[in-house]
Amino acid sequence: MKLNKIVKLASILSRFVEKSTTQKKHVAAIIENGKIQYIRSNAPGVHAEYSSYLSYISYQLKCKNCKYKPYKNIKISKTLLVIRYENGLFKNSKPCKECIEKLRCNVKKIIYSTGDQTNPFICEKLSELENSWQSNLVKKVKDRVYSK
Ligand SMILES: [Zn+2]
Repeated sequence: MKLNKIVKLASILSRFVEKSTTQKKHVAAIIENGKIQYIRSNAPGVHAEYSSYLSYISYQLKCKNCKYKPYKNIKISKTLLVIRYENGLFKNSKPCKECIEKLRCNVKKIIYSTGDQTNPFICEKLSELENSWQSNLVKKVKDRVYSK
């Protein structure tokens, strides 16, 4: 996707940051045929990219008869766009380790804002994306689970 197209889509997403209930304001959406779908902002412990993906999946799960299809049959080869936008600027929104692992099997590509003016957006294949960073909340939840 060309940069000016990404910037255009990202600026649409940036209008939704106020819906975010956390200090770090992220918004994500599924991009299908150049169109934005399932815009979701983040909430404490719920990352925007995963939230958008889940909304898309739950829509896909419903067939015409409102019966649920098996989860494993879901394939989305869509692109996810995720941004962080604060005080009028795009910031680093590289997906965390958890999100990469959760999205990897079903989402092909992810575009995220970098906060770097010279290279404001990066488009990467999720299968090739790595990030050792985990959010504090995820870490806390994990520690709690493991300490039980
Ligand atoms: Zn995440």
